[in-house]
Amino acid sequence: MDKPKKETKITRRSVLRDGVRSFFVLSMGGASGYLVSRVQAEDYVWQIDPHKCISCGNCASHCVLEESASKCVQSYPMCGYCKLCTGFFNAAPSALDTGAENQLCPTGAIIRTFVEDPYFDYTIDESLCIGCAKCVKWCEAFGNASLYLQVRHDRCLNCNECSIALACPADAFVRVPKSKPYRLKIENKPE
Ligand code: SF4
Ligand code: SF4
Ligand code: SF4
Repeated sequence: MDKPKKETKITRRSVLRDGVRSFFVLSMGGASGYLVSRVQAEDYVWQIDPHKCISCGNCASHCVLEESASKCVQSYPMCGYCKLCTGFFNAAPSALDTGAENQLCPTGAIIRTFVEDPYFDYTIDESLCIGCAKCVKWCEAFGNASLYLQVRHDRCLNCNECSIALACPADAFVRVPKSKPYRLKIENKPE
């Protein structure tokens, strides 16, 4: 006849020992989870999908930085170099020149330079851009949509929860690999 199995005696010491062991296992699980999420957080950065952005203006007002990390960029291959650029001029310019009263940008961050008749070049002075997206909206409405917003990584703090992402009505904020931190509009056309 088989011998009955020896009953394991449950003692205070064994309870404490097993408790300590499972606590240790749980802690290790928690710590490795923390490490994984830390690595993930470090490997990805916030970026704007320009094809989802609806130029709502929240980028200018919801960044934790006093001056938003979201800035306008120009896609030169897409730009029409228009004489009457709707991203540069306001709705009723008195003349097509660089007078402040004719400009749409509230901070004068778009530099207009003559190329050859009838073409003009439009460049963003990022130190002046506040990410308000006004030029983006009107370039998209009547132009080639070559102006768009991107999070600038020399400024962005890569907050765990981006406050613009929380306020973005278009879910345009996405996590992208740190190794490819920009979403160039011309490269990322919607399928
Ligand atoms: S909050 Fe979103 S929709 Fe609004 S301007 Fe920024 S990216 Fe575009
Ligand atoms: S209109 Fe707004 S988003 Fe465009 S360049 Fe000027 S400040 Fe930047
Ligand atoms: S992650 Fe932080 S610093 Fe970067 S754009 Fe969002 S709120 Fe601004």
